[in-house]
Amino acid sequence: MGGKSKVLIIGGTGYLGKRLVKASLEQGHETYVLQRPEIGVDIEKIQMLLSFKKQGARLVIGSFNDHQSLVEALKLVDVAICAVSGVHFRSHQILLQLKLVDAIKEAGNIKRFLPSEFGTDPARMGDAIEPGRVTFDDKMVVRKAIEDAGIPFTYVSANCFAGYFVGGLCQPGHILPSRESVTLFGDGNKKSIFVDEDDIAAYTIRTIDDPRTLNKTIYLRPPANILSQREIVEFWEKLIGKQLQKSSLSEQEFLNIMKERGYAEQVGLTHYYHVFYDGCLANFEINNEEEEASVLYPDIKYIKMEDYLKQYI
Ligand code: NDP
Repeated sequence: MGGKSKVLIIGGTGYLGKRLVKASLEQGHETYVLQRPEIGVDIEKIQMLLSFKKQGARLVIGSFNDHQSLVEALKLVDVAICAVSGVHFRSHQILLQLKLVDAIKEAGNIKRFLPSEFGTDPARMGDAIEPGRVTFDDKMVVRKAIEDAGIPFTYVSANCFAGYFVGGLCQPGHILPSRESVTLFGDGNKKSIFVDEDDIAAYTIRTIDDPRTLNKTIYLRPPANILSQREIVEFWEKLIGKQLQKSSLSEQEFLNIMKERGYAEQVGLTHYYHVFYDGCLANFEINNEEEEASVLYPDIKYIKMEDYLKQYI
């Protein structure tokens, strides 16, 4: 009893993965990071892994193409967190995790597995449209494998990463806010939920030794960050002391534009569609089988989006 779990992070060099490594170290966990031989001479990744080592992480060599190497890496720890890629315009490797599930089964010692989720809850997206539903479908395939194998889990539904969504005032293809104009999804009033990526990592790491989060979905819903696109725009307007020119895109116009784009972009646009026209992140109540992170961990002082936007001035 006692002591903090040892953690293995898979996908540790990724956009979210590097933050998970940092949060795990900050919260005092013995932290291992999978180092895949396939990264070859990717100097940025090598240097990042070395910087993790300097900060106290342990690097462990292992590959998705070498089952035994994954088993050996898993045997070093209590908890495995996977953050492999799942954004089509970058890379989408969600189903690779089936190999990890096989290795976890064989290792037999993992007390908690957190698969690469960190977005919209896929279990609530059974009616999602094509082609973007592939993200939810693949994440559900991984969930089924985890549950069929009886592996203890926590699923983190992180909602919208602030960097992707807030910087560009929720407009696809924008990650910096304009000082001139913005296009709203319809009336721009559907509520969504935005979370700073370092806060996502901090909440995630807090769940791993918490019995309240065992075999549950944890939603990240910091109350001040449940906002509409219009509210995000208003924060920005206040910061720059100027009103933006606003235009609006109807649902049908959005769908028409989407159809003309390439596959990877369509997948991303499908997600915007469900978030900003359906309000899929905020249009349901959390039930008794689920938990909300800001209630569980009120001591985490999360970043409010009105403050987050200040970095763009
Ligand atoms: P990245 O695209 O940054 O990739 C993460 C890591 O995955 C890479 O650094 C690499 O790790 C590993 N990886 C990539 N390709 C391969 C491969 N072919 N074989 C093995 N490993 C590979 O991922 P993100 O951080 O963007 O995404 C992580 C999760 O967050 C996903 O589930 C995604 O869906 C979700 N997400 C949610 C968002 C939201 O707004 N809610 C936004 C963006 C992502 P290494 O080389 O270290 O092994």
